[in-house]
Amino acid sequence: MKKDKAIVVFSGGQDSTTCLFWAMKQFEEVIAVTFDYNQRHKMEIECAKNITKELGIKHHILDMSLLNQLAPNALTRDNIPVKAGEEGELPSTFVPGRNLLFLSFAGVLANQVGAKHIVTGVCETDFSGYPDCRDIFIKSLNVTLNLSMDYQFVIHTPLMWLNKAETWKLADELGAFDFVREKTLTCYNGIIADGCGECPACKLRRKGLEDYLKIRKEL
Ligand SMILES: [Zn+2]
Repeated sequence: MKKDKAIVVFSGGQDSTTCLFWAMKQFEEVIAVTFDYNQRHKMEIECAKNITKELGIKHHILDMSLLNQLAPNALTRDNIPVKAGEEGELPSTFVPGRNLLFLSFAGVLANQVGAKHIVTGVCETDFSGYPDCRDIFIKSLNVTLNLSMDYQFVIHTPLMWLNKAETWKLADELGAFDFVREKTLTCYNGIIADGCGECPACKLRRKGLEDYLKIRKEL
């Protein structure tokens, strides 16, 4: 795969930055694509820009503001609070079909630039009710994209079966532990690195990091 070109769906967060490093190891040329859908925090776009610039990676930002017209939710509307979902209920950060749309647009871009590999940080392990993060959905979409453009895409999901601690381990193995820890944005309140420490995204990230640091000490 070394000679091939890959598109990485990139948000500037922990998961997609780990995927970016993973792709840089696997492929000759890596292009990052970030979707601008009027995220609550413009910091997310800035963070993605800074990371790709520092790594010398070509970066496309695609305007997906129409998403906000379709599905107002806590990530795009300031007046909807971020909260974890109750039992059996989706979290307020849910945008129905978001990965379907993002990966389809990534597919069109990949086709345009002659890349057959698409890398995404979706993960079924921490499945919090997002149906288009499931492995079965990704496999189905892969077939659909191939048929739609008569093209042989390969969608890669390096994080699909990893928990948060294992994602930190992968970053470490890729020599990117400090980079991911210090330069990525996961926090819903728009604070880079360790974040605000209070929001659900920060809590999840910190828990994974602590679990991994325990394992690392034991090694
Ligand atoms: Zn936070």
